[in-house]
Amino acid sequence: MPRDAFAHVTTWVFDLDNTLYPPEMALFDQINVKMTAYVMAALGVTREEADRLRHAYWRDHGTTLAGLMDRHGVDPDPYLSEVHDIDFTVLRPDPDLRARIRALPGRRIVFTNGTGDYAEQVIAHRGLAGLFDAVYGVEHAGLRPKPERRAFEAVFTRDGLDPLRAAMFEDDPRNLAAPHAMGLRTVHVAPAPAPADHIHHHTDDLADFLSRLIA
Ligand SMILES: [Mg+2]
Repeated sequence: MPRDAFAHVTTWVFDLDNTLYPPEMALFDQINVKMTAYVMAALGVTREEADRLRHAYWRDHGTTLAGLMDRHGVDPDPYLSEVHDIDFTVLRPDPDLRARIRALPGRRIVFTNGTGDYAEQVIAHRGLAGLFDAVYGVEHAGLRPKPERRAFEAVFTRDGLDPLRAAMFEDDPRNLAAPHAMGLRTVHVAPAPAPADHIHHHTDDLADFLSRLIA
């Protein structure tokens, strides 16, 4: 029963993609297609090479964008607007998740490697508008991505949250390492667990997990 493990929490930090909506809604799949196309055009490479580079950038730089910026000096603004120009109607509102998030005591914030504008559209299409005290994108993290610790430090400082009284929900296990080191309670939200020392809890159903915290 995880309830006692969260009794101290006053700020609830949520990742966006594949955390506040399930992967089967396939929104991020559209972004993946756009990111590969952008790499092909920006670097003049084949699809196969673009996919290989994207994997290497994800592994070594955190995100495709961070790799493009660090290795090739790519301008982030056109990239961010292009890859987030997608069809949001694949998302469906989730009244149960809305009720569970709304019942959490304290501040509720979102931190995504996408942009704040993009996050607001996802939040609206999931029926979660009005629930969050703040929404932070990569532009609020100095254009550095999770999993970099300095990205978390930038956003948490801006927000003013106390890491020792916060919890983070996230589908990418890598993005829970820095929060864990900073003192947050960490929850891995994904179909399959990825046991690691920096992960306190796993769930494949965010709404159900939250319902057990506030019952
Ligand atoms: Mg995610």
